[in-house]
Amino acid sequence: MIPKDAAIRLNPEDIPKKWYNLMADLPKKPDPPMNPRTGKPAGPEDLSPLFCDSILRQEVSLEKHIRIPEEVRENLIYLNRPAPLQRAYRLERYLKTPAKIYFKREDMSPLGSHKGNTALAQAYYNMKDGVENLTTETGAGQWGTALAMSCNLFGIGCTVFMVRGSYDQKPARKTVMNLYNATVHASPSDQTEYGRRVLKATPNTVGSLGIAISEACDMAIHQKNTKYALGSVLNHVMLHQTVIGLETIEQMKIGEIEPDCMIACAGGGSNFAGFAFPLIGEKIKGKTDCEFLAAESDAAPSMTSGKYKYDLGDTGGFTPELMMYTMGHDFIPSPVHAGGLRYHGMAPLVSAALDQGFMTARSYSQPDTFRAGKIFAETEGIIAAPESCHAIKAAIDKALEYKASKEEKTIVFCLSGHGLLDLNGYEKFLAGKLEESAV
Ligand SMILES: *Cc1c(COP(=O)(O)O)cnc(C)c1O
Repeated sequence: MIPKDAAIRLNPEDIPKKWYNLMADLPKKPDPPMNPRTGKPAGPEDLSPLFCDSILRQEVSLEKHIRIPEEVRENLIYLNRPAPLQRAYRLERYLKTPAKIYFKREDMSPLGSHKGNTALAQAYYNMKDGVENLTTETGAGQWGTALAMSCNLFGIGCTVFMVRGSYDQKPARKTVMNLYNATVHASPSDQTEYGRRVLKATPNTVGSLGIAISEACDMAIHQKNTKYALGSVLNHVMLHQTVIGLETIEQMKIGEIEPDCMIACAGGGSNFAGFAFPLIGEKIKGKTDCEFLAAESDAAPSMTSGKYKYDLGDTGGFTPELMMYTMGHDFIPSPVHAGGLRYHGMAPLVSAALDQGFMTARSYSQPDTFRAGKIFAETEGIIAAPESCHAIKAAIDKALEYKASKEEKTIVFCLSGHGLLDLNGYEKFLAGKLEESAV
């Protein structure tokens, strides 16, 4: 007999109608972005060269629920939403744990990750506001892929600056973005003033997300009718991703699942926020005592080793200073395969939730996470993205802790994406040639 909770699915009309904004429920509001030149909170005039008005309104909104435009909901269906919530029976048996393990399948999007949830919304609002081109950065290529597809869908141009380390490791990603008609440059590039400066100073650099963001901002500021889109970190991105957690809550009701620990990997924090914030809202109101755990890479361990302070969002100083956990904006992490986890900082909203005690974080090494990914492939049949392997590793560790303490607890984690375009990382792992990642 197929168990009732093997895969819990919702219908297309169950795609959430509103996003959830944690800002409304946080007891202490996070400190605002700062203009580093004036030392004052950044105003619309500081941000409007980079973002269109609709996006800026969402960035500062204190409203608890924000309506999702129908044009966005309709297209979320084609990203395979609502995404199933699945039980990892075979992983549980392998671990011989009394814990139940569930995972939310963001890997089922044709884009390969959760990034499409915000890419669709951002491309839509920019198109509505009359923007003709978007520029962006990408690490592993997932965000560039999602934005390229979304821009193509809504008829606007897309230029992607891809971190050079990833560009060299993952050439197939460029092809994917080109298929969606995006222009892709390895960053640092000779396309921007800032990129040329970095290249001159460090010709052999593998690049970083901080540098790629600066290049994308540089181009957005200097090119006509062009704005910038960020794939994580900012409040509006966290907001758009909450479709993940809102669906998960409905699925947990259907499956009568009461989570004891919810886990997601965190680079800039968007899949964690999208997955966990709706439930963290419940925790703030005292309605659940679920633990929320963010799994980060020890190559860029902002939450476990960084400082909570104001820091630039990019390397070149094109963005405001954000109050966040950070390794420092000129930090260059080792080129781990989990490119999406190589960001120097953490989303201000996730940082605030951590600072205010509503969640915890742990960091994991590259070899340990690939080992977890291999176990997941063997047991569940899914090749997870290197980023998602951090969530799997955290879930396995938790399940083993519950085994040691003989607790029948429930773990729910977010599988943020698949790894079918990241096979060279797995290839190195199988050959025993994967590097340690710690800073
Ligand atoms: C981009 C990415 C991440 C990291 O970004 P967050 O904003 O922290 O979610 C994690 N997993 C996958 C598959 C990604 O593409």
